[in-house]
Amino acid sequence: MIADPYLGKYTTCVSARSTDKEILQKAQDGGIVTTLMVYALEQGIIDGAIVAGKGDRPWQPRPFVAMSREDLLKARGTKYNISPQISLLKEATRSFGLDKVGVTGVCCQMQAVRKAQLYPINMRDVPDKIALAVGLFCMENFPYKSMQTIVEDHAGQSLSSVKKMEIGKGKFWVYTERGNVVTLPLKVTHKYEQPGCHVCLDYVSNLGDISTGSVGSPDGWSTVFIRTKVGNDVWSKAVAEGIFETKPIEEVKPGLELVTKLAKEKIDKNRKTVEERKTFGINKALQNPYT
Ligand SMILES: Cc1cc2nc3c(=O)[nH]c(=O)nc-3n(C[C@H](O)[C@H](O)[C@H](O)COP(=O)(O)OP(=O)(O)OC[C@H]3O[C@@H](n4cnc5c(N)ncnc54)[C@H](O)[C@@H]3O)c2cc1C
Repeated sequence: MIADPYLGKYTTCVSARSTDKEILQKAQDGGIVTTLMVYALEQGIIDGAIVAGKGDRPWQPRPFVAMSREDLLKARGTKYNISPQISLLKEATRSFGLDKVGVTGVCCQMQAVRKAQLYPINMRDVPDKIALAVGLFCMENFPYKSMQTIVEDHAGQSLSSVKKMEIGKGKFWVYTERGNVVTLPLKVTHKYEQPGCHVCLDYVSNLGDISTGSVGSPDGWSTVFIRTKVGNDVWSKAVAEGIFETKPIEEVKPGLELVTKLAKEKIDKNRKTVEERKTFGINKALQNPYT
């Protein structure tokens, strides 16, 4: 087990891509999340998964419990605004009756899953039913309005015409159905970020059983950390069955060095923000005047 101050604990890190062509057609990167959940469902490791599907407005995610391959495929692709995945955790075991729940989500959501398992207040019977947690790398997220402003006002594209969005190589990328590609420097998008993201001390979903993102791997491939026994069991079986193709992370560019650099940048910067916020009024007001 490797324990890195910025990348968390993991047993293995590889660059990988799904071998499922249908999943890859609309996957954000290497189709790792969807393929893993489909595999886990087919193998009976999970009996459903909480994923970010389509909401009421274009590119607004809504979490739902996927019970089939078809459902899981509907959630492919990254939506850069908040999908309250954890709101369905209890629901998945109650209304949907799942005994083995799969859950996908960003770093803060993986933290929430583990907190719910450790301190199951109002989560009776849920902790033992989390069967597979797949976390996403995440530098930041945006409120819906902010994402709309970025895409419609700054990139000049209507949200309903967008095929894919991506953050990478220092830019925010917008791809439309008609083939337009607009890039914005991240200095334009920074001010629209969700303020809560600025106190997050995790970039690579340290608490997932498996975590994945694009950074570190070539286009169309994903960087994958295997972190727990549960993660290792499902991953090694899937690889042995040819569900994924993999390359040692040391053999791809830009590799782990870039992942570490970005994780360090996020965490060091946010640690400062945490320190600054300790001096905000609300904390001062809550301090006991007699101590
Ligand atoms: C807000 C956000 C910021 C990210 N930032 C980075 C980053 O800085 N660097 C990096 O390398 N990768 C980042 N990622 C992860 C990356 O964009 C891909 O989601 C990841 O590589 C998985 O790709 P895939 O092809 O395996 O997933 P797919 O097979 O396409 O499946 C995507 C999965 O993501 C889930 N999902 C989509 N949107 C959301 C959402 N808003 N909240 C919770 N879950 C969601 C869906 O449930 C779905 O299961 C970010 C993702 C999000 C949601």
